Amino acid sequence: MHELSIATSILEIIKEEAARHNATRVTKIKVAAGALTAVVPESLAFCFGICSRGTLAEGAVLECEVRPVMARCDGCGREFAVEGWSFLCPRCGSSRTRMVSGQELYVDSFEVEQGCG
Ligand SMILES: [Zn+2]
Repeated sequence: MHELSIATSILEIIKEEAARHNATRVTKIKVAAGALTAVVPESLAFCFGICSRGTLAEGAVLECEVRPVMARCDGCGREFAVEGWSFLCPRCGSSRTRMVSGQELYVDSFEVEQGCG
């Protein structure tokens, strides 16, 4: 299961970052995932719920935002969202386009509760 390994990596990142901020509890995590990663937000949240048990991120809400696949045209410079796997430029019809995003997967931000002192 793809989401389980992703959830584990996210948890590792969160634990490191939380320690750096003296956080005692992580309450909310925002993850950005390009459409090409094929991450299912619900499964990722579910897997994260399982692997964060017993850690400072237990019970944290994981929000996963799926970002569209974007491409840029070499001909006219237009950036566009790729739909239905059509990489043709919607402005000039050129096929000389390159993908600029859609494969990214990262922790965008997260919220913590800090210990006093
Ligand atoms: Zn173009």
